[in-house]
Amino acid sequence: MPAIRGAKSKKKTRRYTRDVDQVHADLRSERHLAQFKDTKAIEDLPGLGEYYCKECAKWFESETNFGAHQKGKPHKRRVRQLREEPYSQKEAEAAVGLSTDNGKRTTAPMEVDEEAGAGQ
Ligand SMILES: [Zn+2]
Repeated sequence: MPAIRGAKSKKKTRRYTRDVDQVHADLRSERHLAQFKDTKAIEDLPGLGEYYCKECAKWFESETNFGAHQKGKPHKRRVRQLREEPYSQKEAEAAVGLSTDNGKRTTAPMEVDEEAGAGQ
């Protein structure tokens, strides 16, 4: 989580890394991660893409840098953040009372009263 630095900081993309939900998918599936890595040219990456921190979606120049990163605060913060399930559309819908329940129906389908509609 970035510190509160005003609205402008949210629009900056230079240091943008993957979002938490994307990293979640990366950790779950190797293919998802490979798909992301394929979008980068290996010669443009620091250390030719050899040292990559999955959790932070960051490349490092050397093993020393990578090791130092994994001991650091930003990495640990990120790992802690990743332990929680990412916020999803499903959760957002559940919060306002929408949920998908495809279980067995307990009530009979609503009967359409044709006369009530015709009377008006
Ligand atoms: Zn990291």
